[in-house]
Amino acid sequence: MIRIQNFINGELLAPVKGQYLDNYEPATGKVYGEIPNSTEEDVELAVAAAEKAFPIWSNMTNEERGAIMMRISLGIEKRMDEFVAAESRDNGKPLSLAAHVDIPRAVSNFHFFATAVEHFASESHYMEGMGINYTTRKPIGVVGCISPWNLPLYLFSWKIAPALASGNCVVAKPSEITPHTAYLLSEVVKESGMPAGVLNIVHGLGQFAGDAIVKHPKIKAISFTGGTKTGEYIARTAGPMFKKLSLELGGKNPNIIFADCDFDEMIKTTVRSSFANQGQICLCGSRIFIERSIYDKFKAAFIARVEQLTVSFPSDPNAKMGAVVSKPHMEKVLSYIELAKEEGGTILTGGHRVILDVPYDEGYYIAPTVIEGLSYDCRTNQEEIFGPVVTLTPFDTEEEVLMMANSTQYGLSATIWTSDLKRAHRTADKVQAGIVWINSWLVRDLRTPFGGVKASGVGREGGWEALRFFTEAKNVFIPY
Ligand code: NAD
Repeated sequence: MIRIQNFINGELLAPVKGQYLDNYEPATGKVYGEIPNSTEEDVELAVAAAEKAFPIWSNMTNEERGAIMMRISLGIEKRMDEFVAAESRDNGKPLSLAAHVDIPRAVSNFHFFATAVEHFASESHYMEGMGINYTTRKPIGVVGCISPWNLPLYLFSWKIAPALASGNCVVAKPSEITPHTAYLLSEVVKESGMPAGVLNIVHGLGQFAGDAIVKHPKIKAISFTGGTKTGEYIARTAGPMFKKLSLELGGKNPNIIFADCDFDEMIKTTVRSSFANQGQICLCGSRIFIERSIYDKFKAAFIARVEQLTVSFPSDPNAKMGAVVSKPHMEKVLSYIELAKEEGGTILTGGHRVILDVPYDEGYYIAPTVIEGLSYDCRTNQEEIFGPVVTLTPFDTEEEVLMMANSTQYGLSATIWTSDLKRAHRTADKVQAGIVWINSWLVRDLRTPFGGVKASGVGREGGWEALRFFTEAKNVFIPY
């Protein structure tokens, strides 16, 4: 049994009230560990430690802070296999995915922001004949970072790294569903030479530990990634306290396929953009729109490939898909498949739970599911399912597909497949999304703005956007 502890003031600590939650292994459906069920008392200790550390950390140079963060990056890399195994076990994702995506990306996040901050120059604005404005950017103080379960360490470090690099002290909470790699990170941080209290990791439930972070008056900014409902609650709670907010929320991303695309490349990538990480990536394209003239060809080729995806336990080298993250989540996804049937959809493949052999027979596996015959505005096509479920919808014109693509409350990302350059630009310009991939998917450059429009979020992460979020600008004018 693995018992995880909080990381507060440089120490691994039991929760103040001594209560723990069960941690489940999605591959087997069994409890395999415990995590602190932290309360506001634990958050209070973390905030006090962070406040004490702030003068030390914020007065270090960018280079000094960067050197410590590089040691954290290297520290994760050195324990790569352990981190990969922990991420896969905690989340249910194939080991190969954690090894190629999640953990290398967490290594890069620390590396990227440790160095990026050294190039983060402040602006000056010359006013002819009058004087000059210059802008300073200082760390905010103590900030809160709250992350979800789908890409656990990847998204946790995506927030923590820019917050730390720009001189803030952090109180962070990983998802209670996937806490393990954040715990391993606290061990790495302990050995990195980072002053005690600069990074504090509090484990526990959103409604207790998370809520205490959101409501704490000394936490001046909240960077949150998770569901739109939670984001709305956080905005409602933290807004009147005038906290800076960065909210990365849900999505229902369109994948728009025109008949003139490179068909083979499109099919290969569309299988990935539909089912990578069991469809549990906020950037997965869950609504696939296909130009009518290639609809039947697409359907046949897509289903043939999807049926070759092996659903298996995460450590199986043949696994292309593992388990979804939890029993309630599996039940939610299966209930959406039932809803799709009620709404008149036809299940072309999948549509059911997969039962593996012992000891994985109680694991949370779902067959990759493809549905057609639904209207673009039904619930299945409007609400986020966040699992291995996609819908196929034919279209006739650019106007029609844009209308359908833009019909949801969300606007995180979109994918467009065409070899007509003008159409690619035109469609990218009109689709309501913060991130658009043309003839590609999930190509990430950490310098680019990352985030969504409408109910997919407020603000942007990545590159300068993140460093600007985690700093306060002050403009100074001097006349000639
Ligand atoms: P969630 O909103 O349930 O939880 C996210 C985090 O918030 C967890 O750490 C949770 O403990 C915490 N939390 C829950 N209630 C809280 C509260 N009242 N106060 C403070 N913290 C609280 O989301 P989830 O189920 O973990 O993640 C899935 C969602 O995340 C999906 O909607 C997905 O689209 C979204 N997501 C978005 C992005 C993005 O970049 N836009 C990336 C990944 C995931």
